[in-house]
Amino acid sequence: MARLMGQMMQMPLMISSLLVHAARHHGDTEIVSKRVEGDIHRYTYQDAELRARKLAQAFARLGCEPGDRVATLAWNGYRHFEIYYGASGSELVCHTINPRLFPEQIAWIANDAADKVLCFDLNFLPLVEKLAPQLSSVKHFVAMVGRSHMPAGSSIPGLLCYEDLVDGEDGVYRWPEFDENTASSICYTSGTTGNPKGAVYSHRSTLLHTYGLALPDGMGVGAKDVILPVVPMFHVNAWGTPYAAPMIGAKLVFPGPHLDGKSLYELMEAEKVTFSAGVPTVWLGLINFAQAGKLKFSTLRRTVIGGSACPPAMMRTLEDEFDVEVIHAWGMTEMSPLGTLSKLKAKHASLDAEAQRRILEKQGKVIFGVDMEIIDDDGASLPWDGKASGNLVVRGPWVIQSYYQRPESPLVKVNGRDWFPTGDVAAIDADAYMQITDRSKDVIKSGGEWISSIDLENIAMGHPAVLEAAAIACRHPKWDERPLLVVVKKPGADLTREQMLGYFEGRIAKWQIPDDVAFVSEIPHTATGKIQKLKLRELFKDHRLPTN
Ligand code: ADP
Repeated sequence: MARLMGQMMQMPLMISSLLVHAARHHGDTEIVSKRVEGDIHRYTYQDAELRARKLAQAFARLGCEPGDRVATLAWNGYRHFEIYYGASGSELVCHTINPRLFPEQIAWIANDAADKVLCFDLNFLPLVEKLAPQLSSVKHFVAMVGRSHMPAGSSIPGLLCYEDLVDGEDGVYRWPEFDENTASSICYTSGTTGNPKGAVYSHRSTLLHTYGLALPDGMGVGAKDVILPVVPMFHVNAWGTPYAAPMIGAKLVFPGPHLDGKSLYELMEAEKVTFSAGVPTVWLGLINFAQAGKLKFSTLRRTVIGGSACPPAMMRTLEDEFDVEVIHAWGMTEMSPLGTLSKLKAKHASLDAEAQRRILEKQGKVIFGVDMEIIDDDGASLPWDGKASGNLVVRGPWVIQSYYQRPESPLVKVNGRDWFPTGDVAAIDADAYMQITDRSKDVIKSGGEWISSIDLENIAMGHPAVLEAAAIACRHPKWDERPLLVVVKKPGADLTREQMLGYFEGRIAKWQIPDDVAFVSEIPHTATGKIQKLKLRELFKDHRLPTN
C-alpha cells in the first residue's frame, strides 16, 4: 500500500531564517554592544541582517567554500553575532574558540578543526600573533575592528580588517537553502580529560534547540524581553541566546569583555535588561557589587544559571534581596547545550514557598526534545524515586551522535536504543525532576559510599562568611577518600575551621561532613568559569587530613 505523505511545504530549517525573520518582523529592535574599544554600539536587526549578508559575500570572495570553517576568538558583540549568521547562513561552519584556553590548546583545536578563516577581537592580537605560525590551515586572519583601529606593523601575514570586508560588498545576496542537516557550527569540549573533542551542530539541531529553549518552561523569553547573555558566545553558543533572540524578536545586549560586576550592573540598568544567563561565578561578582552599593535591579527579573550547580544560597539571595527569579538549568556542549530547567508544575502551586524552592533548586525537568534515563554500571535503568542515583544518559535531536572526526561512537545502548552518556551522576524523582549528584569524576568515594561534592559546596555557600567553596576528594588510609573543603572567605569575614565544620552539623549526615577545611585566597576556575576540580585535587594531593 502506498504511504500517504504529508503535503506541507518542504522548508529546510535554516539558521539564516532566524535573522531574516527578525529583520522583517522586528526590524527596528535593537542590538546593543559594549565594544572592546570601550564605547557602546547600537543598531537594529535590519542592520545586522544586511551586514551578515555582506559578510557572507566577503567570505565567498576570500575563497571560502561550503563546509569551510570560520573560527572566532571573540567576546559577545554585534560583529561576533554577524559571523554566527554570515558564516552558518552561507554554508560555512562557525567555530567559536574559547580564548581563555591555553595557547597550545587553542592551536590544537584550530588545527584539529582545520579552520580556514580566523576572526578575532583586537585585544587578542598578541595571542593571535604568537599562534599564527602554528595555524597551518588558516588562510585569512581578520581583525574585528574598523580601519582606524587596525594595528600598524602586525606580524600576522595579510591581516584583514573586518569593516573593510563588510564595506567592500553590496549586500545583494540571497541566503541559500540547503540540507538542514548540514553542519552549522562547532564547539569543542574543554578537554578536562584528554584532548578537546568537537561537537558539530547542524542547522536542524540548532533550530529545534532554539524552539525548545524559547518555550515557557525553557528560558521562556519573548519580544518584550531584553536579553543580556553573560555566558560567552564561545561557551556553547552562549547557550543558544543569539539564536533565540532573533526568533522571538527580543532586544539583545552584548557586554563585550566587560564582565565585572560593576560593568554588568551598569549595562543592565542602562539598557533595561529583563533577562540574563550565566554560570554561578559571574553572579558572585554581580551580587557582591550590588550588595556593597545597596543597589537593586530596576528591570532584571529573570536569569538562567547553569554550567555548574547553582548554590541554593545564591538562588535565595537573588530572589529575596533582588527580586530576580533564578531558573536553574543543566546541559553540556554535547547537548547544544540545554537539557533540563527548573520550573514548577501546576500541582506544585499549593506547596509552601520552602517546598517549592526545594524543587526549583534541582536541575529540573527536560524540555521536549530531550529524554533522559539513569542507569547503573551494567546499563540497567534505575527507578525515578529521587533516591536512586546513577549514570545520566540522554537522547534527542540536539544531542550529539559522534564527535568531530572521531570514528568511535560515544553512545551506549539502554533498552535497545542509543543514548549519550553525560558523565554526570544524577537522581530523578517521581515528578521527573533531575538532580545532579556530581560529575562521576568529582564524586568523593568514602569507604564504598558516595559523597556529593555539590551537596557539600551548596551547604558551605550558605554560610554568610563564605564567598566560594569547593569540595574535593583527599586520599585517606582507611576510607580511601574523604572530603576536603576548600574555602575562600568573604573579604574581612572571620571564619575558623571549627566554625565551618560545625555549620555542617544537622545539615548533612555526620559521615559526610568534610574531614578538613583549607582556606585559600582564590579557587582556580576553568576557561568557562567553573571550579577546576582537577587542579584543586593536584594542589591538595599531599594534604594530610587530621587522623581522629
Ligand atoms: P566543560 O565544563 O567541560 O567545559 P560543558 O560546559 O559542556 O563542558 O559542561 C557540562 C557539564 O557541566 C555537565 O556535564 C555537568 O557536569 C556540569 N553542569 C552543567 N550544568 C550544571 C548544573 N546546573 N548543575 C550541576 N552541574 C552542571
